[in-house]
Amino acid sequence: MTDPLVLKLGGELLESLADRQRIAVLAASVAATRPLIIVHGGGRAIDAELTERGIAPRKVDGLRVTDAATLDVVVSVLAGASNTELVAALVGQGVPAVGLTGVDAGLGRAVRVQNHRSTSGSVVDLGFVGDPVEADPALVELLLSRGYVPVIAGLGVDRDGALLNVNADVMACRIASSVAGSELVIAGATPGVLDAQGKSIPVLDLAGIDDLISNGTATAGMVAKLSSCRTALEQGLSIIRLVDGRTLGGPHGVDDAPGTTLVATLETTEGVHKKMMTTTPTTDVPTLESQHVLQTYRRLPVVFERGAGMRLFDDHGRAYLDFVSGIGVASLGHAHPALARALADQAATLVHTSNLYFHPLQGELAARLSALTGLERAFFCNSGTEANEACLKFARRYWHARGETARTKFVAFTHSFHGRTMGALSVTWDEHYRGPFAPLVPGVTFASTDAPDALDALVDDSTAAVIVEPIQGEGGVRPLSAALVRAITTACTRSGALLIADEVQSGSGRTGTFLHSPTIGLRPDLVALGKALGAGVPVGAAMVSARVAPAVAAGDHGTTYGGNLLACRAALVFLDALEGGLLENITRVSAFLFDRLRDLQARHADRIVEVRGAGLIAGLECKDDAAPIVTAALERGLLVNRTATRVIRLLPPYIATERDVDEAIALLEEAIRHTST
Ligand code: PLP
Repeated sequence: MTDPLVLKLGGELLESLADRQRIAVLAASVAATRPLIIVHGGGRAIDAELTERGIAPRKVDGLRVTDAATLDVVVSVLAGASNTELVAALVGQGVPAVGLTGVDAGLGRAVRVQNHRSTSGSVVDLGFVGDPVEADPALVELLLSRGYVPVIAGLGVDRDGALLNVNADVMACRIASSVAGSELVIAGATPGVLDAQGKSIPVLDLAGIDDLISNGTATAGMVAKLSSCRTALEQGLSIIRLVDGRTLGGPHGVDDAPGTTLVATLETTEGVHKKMMTTTPTTDVPTLESQHVLQTYRRLPVVFERGAGMRLFDDHGRAYLDFVSGIGVASLGHAHPALARALADQAATLVHTSNLYFHPLQGELAARLSALTGLERAFFCNSGTEANEACLKFARRYWHARGETARTKFVAFTHSFHGRTMGALSVTWDEHYRGPFAPLVPGVTFASTDAPDALDALVDDSTAAVIVEPIQGEGGVRPLSAALVRAITTACTRSGALLIADEVQSGSGRTGTFLHSPTIGLRPDLVALGKALGAGVPVGAAMVSARVAPAVAAGDHGTTYGGNLLACRAALVFLDALEGGLLENITRVSAFLFDRLRDLQARHADRIVEVRGAGLIAGLECKDDAAPIVTAALERGLLVNRTATRVIRLLPPYIATERDVDEAIALLEEAIRHTST
């Protein structure tokens, strides 16, 4: 297990829903890479409730004086709303958070601190305040080992079973000291510890802490914080960081948030400084690529370094709302905790064995895909183009097995896109993709999507298969017309030609059902899947009907990587999430998205010609080239992409919420206004 991070969050960072959601985005990205324990305070929420009940809040050196009535309030706020609201925000971001207090399983077994010697020298009875001297980490370690994120409120229990109020900083320090190897970060509402001039102090040792407390520079809550950190450093924690929690969840991750580093002795400071100052030498990424990467892509000028949920972060720490999801791939958003954990676990277990042998996951994944698609068997590959390539080959193989070796032709459609390998390219319409690679696979005819009546004449007993995208994605987010769907069904039924549905972009839940074909009335014999299926890990699949499957024999087709353990594990995690509520989310958010897009179109009818799509694939056809709007959106922190020159395409991750849609529409509207001439 990598070293756990104990993150203490001051109550002031968690007051509003927006605050908690911001923190939850950060927690999701941390939890994706290492075990995380959160300890939180209640601060102002407790003060507010005390005032409401006519009790004056009282603190000595940042520690709350807790009489019986105050303890009632502390317990009800901390163990009630504060903890539950934070857990809810975390769960909303996909973090498997579990709400606890120090009482649970004796985690914060405390002794009552009756006589506290204050910094002014007087002895004060703090009432029901505890010091968790015997923190028992067993429950926390058990939860961490199972991938959960414990979220702990500062309450303790004494030997007699009485509840005690435990300062959350003290609690975090004790937990960090007792959970092996953990690192402690305390996030508050200042950029770390401030000097007498109000400037942040970069590094402090025990002597420095003592000076700050005795000379009065540190006051109130900071005294309690520093005193508990001092004890933890003496007990063996090597570094504690006090950071500005207001920056978390924005451009700053936990590692680069501004603040103060506390160490036991300054002898270690040099090492700490070095650690803090050592940054990877900045390489000019575009220049390096321009020298060594084959120049097949025209990239937008941004370098993304990390992601969390719906957001990507560039090399300057700037956040972008992602409505592209890597062209319909990052279906679970970025750094999804369950996916990250599963991949890390699989990588530590077994990644690849080849298709020479069995492994436990391929059959399981195939069975689940078969149940979801109604197609009997799966062939696994690594991309959308390979899935189409397999479908085309299986269609030919089917007729070959029946002795109809002349039945080799394919009918595809105008505006189609099926991939870049030779077979898939041959059924791709745009001349721009095809031209430089001629000659392609012969025997392909393109039928017009605008002339359903003309299709029948093009499909005959030399046609092996008709291939179609239920929504043409790259061609400009063009749904098939009902007349064309009818014409395809009629032509295939009459001629016996197989039907291949390319659901690489429209499938795997994108439209709110696993496949889009049945929704519009298509009954394919073969279905190509890719993109969202691996949630970012390259996974493709050709789904094959009971009619076609028997024609394909051992040795007919194959791939080294296809369906390896890592790929299957990713797809299984994706399917769990999809069937665990994401399909419903897609349908709900889609209705909201299309409402908002139509409103946007109404406000900019001079610029937006049409809104098209289904589920979480949407296209806005513009009057002019959409590239300037896409660039202006990027500059405003929104990722959308352009396809078919005049279409702005939106392909958000499936975890998108109505709030994300509102934010995206607002940014897109700014971009549209900015580019108006
Ligand atoms: N088919 C469709 C409908 C697609 O949208 C794409 C990619 O955009 C492909 C096939 C090719 O997929 P890949 O790029 O994974 O090879």
